[in-house]
Amino acid sequence: MNFKDLHLHPSIIESIDSMGFEKATPVQEQTIPAILSGKDLIASAQTGTGKTAAFLLPVIHKILNSSHKDKIKALVIVPTRELAIQISQQMEGFAYFANVSSIAVYGGGDGDLFSREKKALIEGADIVICTPGRMISHLNLNYVNFGMVETLILDEADRMLDMGFNEDIMKIISHLPNNRQSLLFSATMPPRIRELARKILYKPLEISISISRPPENIKQGAYVVYDAQKINMVDEILSKHKELRSILIFCSTKLSVKELAKVLKRKSFKAEEIHSDLDQSKRENVLMDFKSRKLQVLVATDILSRGIDIEDIDMVINYDVPDDGEDYVHRIGRTARAESKGEAITLIGEKDQIKFSRIEKLIDKDIDKYPVPDFMGEVPTYDPTHKSVYQGSHQKRNFSNKKKGKPKGSPSNYNG
Ligand code: AMP
Repeated sequence: MNFKDLHLHPSIIESIDSMGFEKATPVQEQTIPAILSGKDLIASAQTGTGKTAAFLLPVIHKILNSSHKDKIKALVIVPTRELAIQISQQMEGFAYFANVSSIAVYGGGDGDLFSREKKALIEGADIVICTPGRMISHLNLNYVNFGMVETLILDEADRMLDMGFNEDIMKIISHLPNNRQSLLFSATMPPRIRELARKILYKPLEISISISRPPENIKQGAYVVYDAQKINMVDEILSKHKELRSILIFCSTKLSVKELAKVLKRKSFKAEEIHSDLDQSKRENVLMDFKSRKLQVLVATDILSRGIDIEDIDMVINYDVPDDGEDYVHRIGRTARAESKGEAITLIGEKDQIKFSRIEKLIDKDIDKYPVPDFMGEVPTYDPTHKSVYQGSHQKRNFSNKKKGKPKGSPSNYNG
């Protein structure tokens, strides 16, 4: 689903566009309309599914439409400083073109940091992202006014309970208005979470996003290259793996399928293409030849990634990074079927780095980045945190815990 279909404020769409998000993830598709409609929510969703944007975007949207100025309107409670920092960084990106302020309140650091948190809490940052213990310290000093909070978000609630924050959370919540909207996110749903949900949510909508993981017996790796180097990289991989009998290459577009297949055929690989421009009988013939090993290489669009069962593929190559983690899992799941071993190699182009790191988070694995042979020339550095949108000066009221002069978006901006 396109973000425009979710009817978010134009300034949010502008930020999302410049961050390169093309489609809403499944958790975003389901939660954003529910949050905008004002419902309470209990969602089981892991890190990597896009859950932070799933709650921040509608909350920013609601704040942009709110008439209350200089009041705390949303409170996000998280288990760790690292998560508070991460959410706060994402917040800066999403609100880049919107006049919405935020502060991360997460403990540690020096007295200076505490004073800055205090100032922002008194002046009323729109969104406060906090760890429980640090927030209790501020609440105990009696200057925090949560009377206008409209939305409460508990993120990674299961971890917070594991860390013994139940009492602190309930104490913080006792300062919030009863007629607020509450959203609870948790990777798992043990009975203790159900109990917490019963206490703090009102007729919640329940959303569950299950994610699949690729089988362990697939060896996964990647090459970080420029788009213009991809065809040569495939040539190199295939030349090094002449012994493999069955290699499936996925491309995102029909055009790249056709281009790549043409080059491979010219280089005398036994290769064919398959995509929706071919008629049914041609597709069936190509598939049959691939299954019977007459063809070593099949270049395909995603029509092959789900459903079609071809046994014993030795290697899957992702010519480009699939749009979401589920597609990645389905694509590479074509290899290592039925306990056999398989290999999956992904080519990460310049614009695909953030997408790839999201997939790594989703499947909870750092995938090996193989060295690219020298003769291929210079290659890009792998730096998925690079977000050019964050560069430049901010004109709006801003409570971020960052020191002046350092680039935004880097954890070193934070002294917690
Ligand atoms: P999270 O699950 O919130 O930790 O998000 C994981 C990563 O996915 C973050 O780096 C986000 O910036 C990124 N992300 C979130 N939503 C999208 C989207 N719709 N398209 C592309 N990337 C996204």
